[in-house]
Amino acid sequence: MPKNASELQQALINAATIAMKNAYAPYSQFQVGAAVLAEDGKIYSGCNVENAAYPIGSCAEAGAISAMINGCQTKITAIAVAGVGDKLCTPCGGCRQRIREFAEPTAPVFICGPDGLRHSTTLAELLPMSFGPDNLS
Ligand SMILES: [Zn+2]
Repeated sequence: MPKNASELQQALINAATIAMKNAYAPYSQFQVGAAVLAEDGKIYSGCNVENAAYPIGSCAEAGAISAMINGCQTKITAIAVAGVGDKLCTPCGGCRQRIREFAEPTAPVFICGPDGLRHSTTLAELLPMSFGPDNLS
């Protein structure tokens, strides 16, 4: 079990990379994996799952969040997303909002490729002036 922040970050990145390799992307070949670090210190991961009926495919982040919820956790403290290709594989617009439901704007987001960490950012940078659960309380 990782102990310090650096080891946790690397474990999160590793989990996202493994999930990326497990992605079901026979149509686009664009494999994506995501891993969230929950408040309990556990890492939950997911991958994109395409479908022959294209619009119903699902993003890796949605899978990771579903796994976290299934683990009875509702707070994301950090997230890593790993995707193939040369460009930064940042979460899509919908997933930025999905993440916001469970993460504070200050939550670190690690953008990775098959080669490892490519860019570190925060949810606030990806989704400025976000609308979240606080808006409804
Ligand atoms: Zn998405």
